Amino acid sequence: MTSNNEWIARGEKVFIATYNRFPATMVRGEGCWLWDADNRRYLDFLSGIAVCSLGHCHPVVSDAICAQARELVHVSNLFHTKPQIELAELLTSNSFADRVFMANSGAEANEAAIKLARIHSGANRYEIISLTGSFHGRTLATVAATGQPKFHEGFEPLPTGFIHAEFGDPSSLEGLITDKTCAILCEPLQGESGVRPLDDEYLLAIRALCDKYGLLLIFDEVQTGMGRTGTLFAYEQLPVTPDILTMAKALGNGLPIGAMLTTDKIAASLVAGTHASTFGGNPVAAAAAVAVLREMITDGFMENVQENSTYFMNRLGEIVDKFPDLASGVRGKGLLIGLVLTEKGIEDGMNMVSDLFANQVLINFAGGRVLRFIPPLTVTKEEIDYLIDKLVEIMATYSS
Ligand SMILES: *Cc1c(COP(=O)(O)O)cnc(C)c1O
Repeated sequence: MTSNNEWIARGEKVFIATYNRFPATMVRGEGCWLWDADNRRYLDFLSGIAVCSLGHCHPVVSDAICAQARELVHVSNLFHTKPQIELAELLTSNSFADRVFMANSGAEANEAAIKLARIHSGANRYEIISLTGSFHGRTLATVAATGQPKFHEGFEPLPTGFIHAEFGDPSSLEGLITDKTCAILCEPLQGESGVRPLDDEYLLAIRALCDKYGLLLIFDEVQTGMGRTGTLFAYEQLPVTPDILTMAKALGNGLPIGAMLTTDKIAASLVAGTHASTFGGNPVAAAAAVAVLREMITDGFMENVQENSTYFMNRLGEIVDKFPDLASGVRGKGLLIGLVLTEKGIEDGMNMVSDLFANQVLINFAGGRVLRFIPPLTVTKEEIDYLIDKLVEIMATYSS
């Protein structure tokens, strides 16, 4: 049998080296656990980057995928399909929105939102203000919207019309609004830059600016959506509602699918021929997403996420108490949680992640200052305890 390392050697010869991968070739998954080609078992607190929120190979989702794959895989959006209609009904009946555009990824859902904001706002109103530290995707427009210079370098000139306001400062944001501005785009909680929530006051100020200047508020819930923060969408816990909502990651529990949602009134600006996707909302991906949504809206699902969140945050709080030289706090919502490291802790952040990997526990280092935990929403307290025990062992080796 081909070993883990043999697979890796083969992969490294044929891929464009865009990823710094962990040295593991994953072959199987179940719940919160993954197995590599050497049959080593890993506890997964990454969930394929907040994607497999029902855990790996959830039977309800896998069954829906298999059943749909036998019926109809693809016909394009020249036709209606049953799973896509059911999915759009579920998304609109469980959100503020009336209408849906189906895409294949987070970046594509955001591209659709950007196009909608521009066409809805009319000629010469094309500027979109986003925040420093944001992450909106890797296509050229979404990279331009992303407020982190490291993602821009080497790819200039970027599409114009993307302006970045200083995170957390509403007055600087107001100063950037011109007669060309059409929208403000933000994540209600920044995931990639280190699990940074926007506080209620700041969000209220952003909503007020949108209302004052006639701008659309776009929430990128690609990471925070689909139950990650303890409600189906993060905005449900906030004092503001966006005009446009994007989602992707956990929507298909691993099948590629994204969506852009909005109201009837705003949706009317995108007429036939203005936007399209060959694969967007394809029957198999949509069937997976229907299964995901039905599971997530069952009684008790979100309550369980919230309960696990409280438990996990408390246990991470114990780590802050135990290793004050390395960790300074815990932040996040639901099961999107960051352990904030001190200046000393940051120096070893990457090493802690590597050591956890060597101990067969998967997490990552986000924004250069937090250990990020994004387990499947179906994680158990025992699995949380398992991670905490390993984390304590490893942090003890860095603590003075
Ligand atoms: C992951 C992510 C994206 C990009 O999604 P892709 O599916 O990789 O294109 C966009 N916005 C946020 C907030 C994300 O976390």
